[in-house]
Amino acid sequence: MPDKKDYYEVLGIPRDSSEKDIKGAYRKLAMKYHPDRSEDPGAEEKFKEISEAYAVLSDPEKRQKYDQFGHAGINSQYSQEDLFRGVNFEDLLRGFGFGGGAGRGGGESIFDMFFGGGRGQPARGRDLRYDIDITLEQAASGLESTIDVPRTENCPTCHGSGAKPGTSPTTCSNCRGTGQITRAQNTPFGQMVTSSACPKCGGRGQIIVTPCADCSGSGRVRKNRKINIKIPPGVEDGQHLKLRGQGDSAGPGMENGDLYVVISVRPHPLFQRVESDLLMETPISFTQAALGTDLEVATLNGRAKIKVPAGTQTGTIFRLRGKGMPRLQGLGSGDLHVKVRIKTPSALTERQRQLLEALAVEFGEKRKKQTEKEKSLIDKIVDEVKSAVQ
Ligand SMILES: [Zn+2]
Ligand SMILES: [Zn+2]
Repeated sequence: MPDKKDYYEVLGIPRDSSEKDIKGAYRKLAMKYHPDRSEDPGAEEKFKEISEAYAVLSDPEKRQKYDQFGHAGINSQYSQEDLFRGVNFEDLLRGFGFGGGAGRGGGESIFDMFFGGGRGQPARGRDLRYDIDITLEQAASGLESTIDVPRTENCPTCHGSGAKPGTSPTTCSNCRGTGQITRAQNTPFGQMVTSSACPKCGGRGQIIVTPCADCSGSGRVRKNRKINIKIPPGVEDGQHLKLRGQGDSAGPGMENGDLYVVISVRPHPLFQRVESDLLMETPISFTQAALGTDLEVATLNGRAKIKVPAGTQTGTIFRLRGKGMPRLQGLGSGDLHVKVRIKTPSALTERQRQLLEALAVEFGEKRKKQTEKEKSLIDKIVDEVKSAVQ
């Protein structure tokens, strides 16, 4: 077995590269060598090589072992499968127009693509993304909606063939229908055979003599397609629905891409969400807190009562079981936590002020100003007490 190339050399980066540099270098090379894109027969081997280098260098633990012990440190510790485990190539390459190339057949890892399964499957249409914004109330109740998705479909007039109905495409004479041009060259090392897409038919193997008028012979049309979606109750911000086969078409007989509907849940003015629980704050008056009260609070789907006991302190949290968000798995709902904040009375009327002054005196926080009449009354009581004691 020939010696393996240095992973840093494979990616063309210095040994002290940052994680970001490693990712950048990998993406750039993947663009060039991805087997779905490149005509170069050596591309697949090269792609495998850069993917392995990326799998190792993007994982801090594997990178450290490699830096310390080289390939021996990696080979002794990890199987080929382990090497690629945990690397999400699909995410890394999404949006490159690979037609979901890294995940052909759906759910297959890049490992399957190289080492089994997945081989020889036809290309798929591109995956599409659609963003939708919903309210917290909609996230709680779930939502059925129709979205308008612009996508590429097979032309309905020619059913994707590109040929005007009633006419047929002819076999390309240049490549005799194979779509590939093979060229043999004699070199000092022996005969080298290279194959590339036929330039005359663009690799399709067929020539359209009379193009379909509706798609100008491309076989594909852009269409805004109305698609029904069902967002389940309890959905969280950032989660997505995957609608299999609702993405772009790649041509007749080929699998469509998938449609990813990415859900954003807008922040709510009243409720803050923590997983399936909701938090809210509500003001209560100083007298309600001191005397106790039945408090009515808003919930996501109506109202609820809280019994606030006498002597409640500010910051006390009351829990309303089951009044939070529904759980996605259908296992009931979270709780609503209501935190009370005591409002200090302000803008007092004269009477309110007097009552509070009296209360302050009652609490011993303030000396009462005595009137002359009260003074003489108190003096009189004091005298009476004194004479009684003597
Ligand atoms: Zn057409
Ligand atoms: Zn051809």
